[in-house]
Amino acid sequence: MYAGEIVETGKVNEVFARPRHPYTRALLATLPGLVLSEAEGLERGGKMTVIPGIVPRTQDLPKGCRFHPRCPLAVVACRRNPVPLTPVGEGRQARCIRAGERDLLQ
Ligand code: SF4
Repeated sequence: MYAGEIVETGKVNEVFARPRHPYTRALLATLPGLVLSEAEGLERGGKMTVIPGIVPRTQDLPKGCRFHPRCPLAVVACRRNPVPLTPVGEGRQARCIRAGERDLLQ
């Protein structure tokens, strides 16, 4: 979900392994990784990242894709019209006009 809209659907393990929406990818990147320590076993490690910008207020939603002000892959077309959820594979949907560009989203 982002700004009140579903942005990606699919089986949890598939979405986590191969997110198709830039927000899903950015959200997963904010999770610090787990590292294996000989002394302590599994513990949190790595750096926590943040997604630049802020979630828009419901009374001030951007035109077009609601994520476009924060999206690193945004293009002019992202600002024009609302983006529908579209199929991006078996049992998967994403609300992104670029979700099919595999080289960008791998
Ligand atoms: S539609 Fe455009 S702005 Fe929205 S998530 Fe996709 S690439 Fe980013």
